[in-house]
Amino acid sequence: MLLRPLTFHSPRTTIEAAKLQATLGEARILAGGTFLLNSLKLMKRKGSKTPSHVISLRKIEELKGVAIKEDKLIIRAMTIINDLFDSPLLKDNTAILRTVCKNISTNPIRNMATVGGNLTCRYTWTEMGCVMVALEANMHFIDQDGKEEIVQAEDFFKNAAKSDKILSHVSIPIDKSATTVYRRVKKSANVDIPLLAVCIQTHLQNKKFTRTRVTVNNATAFAQRDRKLEDYLNTQSSHVKLGTDALDHLDTEIYDKRSDDYKKHMFRISIKNAIQEIVEKTK
Ligand SMILES: Cc1cc2nc3c(=O)[nH]c(=O)nc-3n(C[C@H](O)[C@H](O)[C@H](O)COP(=O)(O)OP(=O)(O)OC[C@H]3O[C@@H](n4cnc5c(N)ncnc54)[C@H](O)[C@@H]3O)c2cc1C
Repeated sequence: MLLRPLTFHSPRTTIEAAKLQATLGEARILAGGTFLLNSLKLMKRKGSKTPSHVISLRKIEELKGVAIKEDKLIIRAMTIINDLFDSPLLKDNTAILRTVCKNISTNPIRNMATVGGNLTCRYTWTEMGCVMVALEANMHFIDQDGKEEIVQAEDFFKNAAKSDKILSHVSIPIDKSATTVYRRVKKSANVDIPLLAVCIQTHLQNKKFTRTRVTVNNATAFAQRDRKLEDYLNTQSSHVKLGTDALDHLDTEIYDKRSDDYKKHMFRISIKNAIQEIVEKTK
């Protein structure tokens, strides 16, 4: 299906893109296009009004690539999911991103979709958000005057992933002492989108869990932390039954609200197995 006529803007710098976004009014940002192009076609099919301007970020070189700056991993917004997967810079706690990338949808989608698009497209079920919250990432936005706003990923998703600025990059503290695990369950065999995702990052001190973050994507709300489970785990030492015992300490509001029995069950299996993986690592 063809799109309705629109004006295509192709700025070369982030500030130029931010200025266009601030001045054009009804404009949409184009990154990899996997979300936006579908949604524009859907709007047309439904007979809804479609935006008359699209601002492509594809020619903005400063928005591409992965780097290390001081003690942080920098992932620029226009980094393609498959390029992040291939990056040799994913090490220590950030190595978990390789597992996340390889599980996202199919290869054609992973070859187009960007990290920035995954974080900002406002689908509640996209996976990067959950992991960025667990990794204590910051998100960096640029406004039309080139001013940077830094928002913790946790706060961004608490605020329903809303922003009217351009995401330039995320920065993740590189943490050699962290243990990080990830579980996700796919929704259907055909179109692979996640039913749920769980990411746990902890710091084991003499087998004791400390500074634990449990982040959950239940696919119906944006990524959030299970602080009740975190508090419980932070009183515990690693032991064989910990995965099972932890299930009595879930904030059930997160897992059970709007979940059917299968999803509730899969949450418990995923959390139990994620904790068991950490326990195994302490042996
Ligand atoms: C068939 C299919 C299966 C999928 N399966 C999965 C899956 O298993 N797991 C998963 O996590 N995701 C999945 N996705 C979602 C996919 O990862 C997203 O569509 C993708 O991440 C969006 O990225 P994009 O670069 O294509 O964004 P685009 O479609 O180009 O942009 C979408 C919107 O994001 C915002 N945006 C993008 N970049 C920026 C920026 N730098 N600054 C500000 N705003 C910006 C804009 O509002 C823009 O309109 C799937 C998608 C499809 C179509």
